[in-house]
Amino acid sequence: MGEYNTKPNSEVDIENGELLYDDGEHKFIWLGWGQAEEGMIQTNQYLIVDNGRGILLDPGGIHIFPKVVSNVTKYIDLDDIDFIFFSHQDPDVSSGIPMWLSVTSADIYISELWVRFLPHFGITDLSRIKGVGDGGVSVAGLDIIPAHFMHSPGNHVAFDKKSQILFNSDIGAAVFGSQRYLFVDDDNFNSHVSIMEGFHKRYIASSNVCKHYINRVRALNPKMIAPQHGAVFRGKAVDMFLNWLGSLRCGADIIDEISR
Ligand code: FE
Repeated sequence: MGEYNTKPNSEVDIENGELLYDDGEHKFIWLGWGQAEEGMIQTNQYLIVDNGRGILLDPGGIHIFPKVVSNVTKYIDLDDIDFIFFSHQDPDVSSGIPMWLSVTSADIYISELWVRFLPHFGITDLSRIKGVGDGGVSVAGLDIIPAHFMHSPGNHVAFDKKSQILFNSDIGAAVFGSQRYLFVDDDNFNSHVSIMEGFHKRYIASSNVCKHYINRVRALNPKMIAPQHGAVFRGKAVDMFLNWLGSLRCGADIIDEISR
């Protein structure tokens, strides 16, 4: 049985990252706070290492590439990364794709809806890009699960079966001001909602798609939910997050309010 990170936020290494799960052979790693400058949305990058082989999850855009490479190589050689998962097409997720293709020999998995758009980030050879169908796919211990319209119309989340940590794309994203913390627990969940709410109301397509996602995620019973922006939900906060999302009115539900 592996160990989950139980550190209080005050002890988290924001710059260099943290192990979220470790059983000796299998690690799920948060790669540190990704924000190159003020005014740019903060991003989270994650690395899974299983018996010396690596999987990167949404490794981020051009600006943070050097920092992510340096944090990744503390755990693994770039040559040992077998594949890279991109949850969707946004520039903060995918614009580093030409660089990741050049420094690794990894295949890249992304919704097939976005494959034809990727050449605009400067890729000429699409042979290592694997389009994931709408129903998802399982690769190397990772279940790539559909979560379409949350927010992207071709969006997947990824469940690491060994650690039981769910990488959650932009779902659960928070937009930080000057504060920085890694974990959401039951005692800071309510204050955390105030920096999640605006994003979800405006970017997520509707409460209907949320319910579809919640049903799938509850069946997985994840131990942690790790989004691409914001903070990682653990313990009771996992369920609190799913309950909150299940009662949210967003997107098409409130279109009159949004476009007023
Ligand atoms: Fe996005």
